[in-house]
Amino acid sequence: MSYARVLCVGLLGVTGHVVEVEADLSPGLPAVVLTGLPDTALHEARDRVRAAVVNSGNTWPNRRITVNLLPAALPKQGSAFDLAIAAAMLTSAGELPPAALDGVVLLGELGLDGAVRPVRGVLPMVAAAAAAGLRRVIVPLANAREATVVPGVTVEAVDTLRRLVGFLRDGGELLEPPPAGPVPAAPGYDLADVAGQEMGRYGLEVAAAGGHHLALFGPPGAGKTMLAERLPSILPELDDAAALEVTALHSIAGVLPPDGGLVRRPPYQAPHHTASAAALVGGGSGLARPGALSLAHRGVLFLDEAAEIPSATLQALRQPLEKGRVVLARARGTTVFPARVQLVLAANPCPCASPAGDQHCTCPPAVRRRYLAKLSGPLLDRIDIRLTLAPLSAAQLTTATAPATSSAEIAARVATARAAAAKRWADDGWRVNADVPGPVLRRAPWRLPVADTADLRESLDKGLLSARGFDRVLRLAWTIADLDGRDRPGRAEVSEAIQLRMGESHAL
Ligand SMILES: [Zn+2]
Repeated sequence: MSYARVLCVGLLGVTGHVVEVEADLSPGLPAVVLTGLPDTALHEARDRVRAAVVNSGNTWPNRRITVNLLPAALPKQGSAFDLAIAAAMLTSAGELPPAALDGVVLLGELGLDGAVRPVRGVLPMVAAAAAAGLRRVIVPLANAREATVVPGVTVEAVDTLRRLVGFLRDGGELLEPPPAGPVPAAPGYDLADVAGQEMGRYGLEVAAAGGHHLALFGPPGAGKTMLAERLPSILPELDDAAALEVTALHSIAGVLPPDGGLVRRPPYQAPHHTASAAALVGGGSGLARPGALSLAHRGVLFLDEAAEIPSATLQALRQPLEKGRVVLARARGTTVFPARVQLVLAANPCPCASPAGDQHCTCPPAVRRRYLAKLSGPLLDRIDIRLTLAPLSAAQLTTATAPATSSAEIAARVATARAAAAKRWADDGWRVNADVPGPVLRRAPWRLPVADTADLRESLDKGLLSARGFDRVLRLAWTIADLDGRDRPGRAEVSEAIQLRMGESHAL
């Protein structure tokens, strides 16, 4: 036997493709030739594989070794091919029985000492193998748990190349995937902890029910962060498809806990306002890493101190937020990561950030206007709810009579409202009210009676609302009606919706 073939999986963005690793030994000067569009990491694979093979007690064949990765046209990145390359080589050299790896997918990076190291993206890789009809995978021990999330696939694990060789040649044992860790309890933050801030709490509930982006303006200490980090606690759990997408992205980023299963809670990401554009949208050499935007996919992206974010970074966020995905230009084509997030943006009303709010602000009016103006193009245009939060007074904090409503209670109302909206828009393919284009709400059969929109038209005529703002108020009114269990909004719901926009005229 001087030829062997072993299966592996390569990743492009979040999509895996089965890769065949061929090895051929021929007479000639000892050398290793790698073909099939390998990137730098793959060239390094040659050196890692040689050291790992020798240090695992095998002899290195002193012949010409050709390793080819198919399909050649597929860009291949990362170090997950090491284990398959080593196995293909050892099989072609006659060290391993020829048919032992038929139909088996091997994933893993090799250390120089022969240890099998974890790699990023094992979940989407195993999912791709399953989609291609393959039913058995051998993965690094630290990745085994996430691999078991894919149904219909037998997952076995290895910690060293020596163990794999021992299994294939001498009938030794592979390792079992570790058992699942404790199921993460309900999210740690609860809205019951937020005293006062009635308007903020209500805005959060409406945002969750309608999928609306939310902007919170207010001085430091007004509770903007407390509210934002509790939004996931009132959002519905992810369904199977969404949970797989989210877990796959976290797998590619390498941030899954080793004993974790599917990510079921909507994720929450709060990048610092000094974070680079790359940290937000993703990138890096080799196998691209998803950024905060994609790690928040199907969950919440919180941008605190948004007015302090550099303009270039805001520009980088603009398209992904609009399209729901990040497109990264790479040396070999482009990488696409999903990034459908619910945005919560928070900002102080002005640069002095006086904790007492407006009363003690010393900023000239022009400075105040300019401070938030740069948000209006890239981000604020897409935000339905804009609230200005007052600073919490000591009285509010200490005289609360009854405990505030808990996240669980609000989550139940949110779920009911979402179900009503999903049913209404099912034929049009929209899931939440935030997805519905404004013009649809202004024409039959969804147009509201003139009497019910009187306040709204007055705000528009007085210049308190823009035409876009008009549509946003309509969307919010539908969400409020869904929360109230009404089949369409009336004048009261429209009036409440206008309240949820009052932050706009104040802040800008
Ligand atoms: Zn100020």
